[in-house]
Amino acid sequence: MSPDDSLRQELAYFRDLGIVDLYIDARRAPPSVVPGATRDLEGLKKFLEGCPRCKLSRCRKNIVFGQGNPHAELMFVGEAPGREEDEQGLAFVGRAGQLLTKIIEAIGRKRDDVYICNTVKCRPPENRNPEADEVAACMPFLEEQIRLVSPRVIVTLGTFAVQAVLGTDEPIGRLRGRWQTAHGVRVMPTFHPAFLLRSPERKKDVWDDLKRVRDYLAEK
Ligand code: URA
Repeated sequence: MSPDDSLRQELAYFRDLGIVDLYIDARRAPPSVVPGATRDLEGLKKFLEGCPRCKLSRCRKNIVFGQGNPHAELMFVGEAPGREEDEQGLAFVGRAGQLLTKIIEAIGRKRDDVYICNTVKCRPPENRNPEADEVAACMPFLEEQIRLVSPRVIVTLGTFAVQAVLGTDEPIGRLRGRWQTAHGVRVMPTFHPAFLLRSPERKKDVWDDLKRVRDYLAEK
């Protein structure tokens, strides 16, 4: 029986007893994501609405779930929303996002063709690094996004994304540009576009990595 069916059955049981109001105890931990239980990204996004699972929920304006083609063969995973993203509720819409758009277009794709999301869905205050408990709280949602989109390739952007997706603490410098596998999907770790804005001399590395991705996706 699916989790939806068992919930439906339980609610029918209360209805048959004549109970018409049910109150949820907000002091209890929120339900966790049951892998495989959400049918689509919209359902998962709805499940995440009002998320209280970590301390970032207290200072965010919007949850930045992610956006793009729900059946994309190419998925990008960044770190966490910044100020612009928090304002708009959309991933990669600030300066780093503009550079990401150029990177996507450089390999002959459009932003709407790919799926873009972050490791952590809420903005850390002052754009500090996400903390381990925040990454852990958000991880089941990223895993579900990967399962639902089922891309051929994931490009991780920066340290936090690659470490979360691969479940490793190896530094990005050692992983960058080398194919990996996680969740049954090929993963290409590369630098974060915000890092490229500070260190434009590393753009060539990202170009090399993305050419590998382009060539792999061109093979059928
Ligand atoms: N940096 C990220 O990692 N994600 C965004 O959405 C924006 C900037």
